[in-house]
Amino acid sequence: MCEKLVGLGDVDLVGIEDTGEGTPLGVVIRSRKGRPTCETCWGPVWSKGYRTAVLVDLPAFGRPVRLRWRKRRSTCPNPDCAQKWFVEQVSTIGPPRALLTSRVARWATIGVGRRGRPVEEFAEELSVGGIRSKTRAAARVKHS
Ligand SMILES: [Zn+2]
Repeated sequence: MCEKLVGLGDVDLVGIEDTGEGTPLGVVIRSRKGRPTCETCWGPVWSKGYRTAVLVDLPAFGRPVRLRWRKRRSTCPNPDCAQKWFVEQVSTIGPPRALLTSRVARWATIGVGRRGRPVEEFAEELSVGGIRSKTRAAARVKHS
């Protein structure tokens, strides 16, 4: 049921990390894809645990969100295979080495391209880049 709320398809919601008001909400997920096979020789692989990729996701409940995606790491035991290790990829969540989830990229592209919203507005809503530090500095001034 919680997975439905996250709306990323076939994923398990591992947990929510909330470090308090003014910080992004962390949504920890893991893909439900079956056991991977080697990307090069298609043989069985050995699991080497997980690596967490942090991606900027759509804001939720009035807060910026960071998707903490626990990506499966694997190694190929085949001595004749050139692929020694690899990390799980699910393009519907985010492309390899991306900083944004696929849906944030789509959302921002439509907003800027079709609706003419300024990029700074997205940066602020997502709490990314220089805008974030400027917003924080402004908040600090207000509190003192
Ligand atoms: Zn292989």
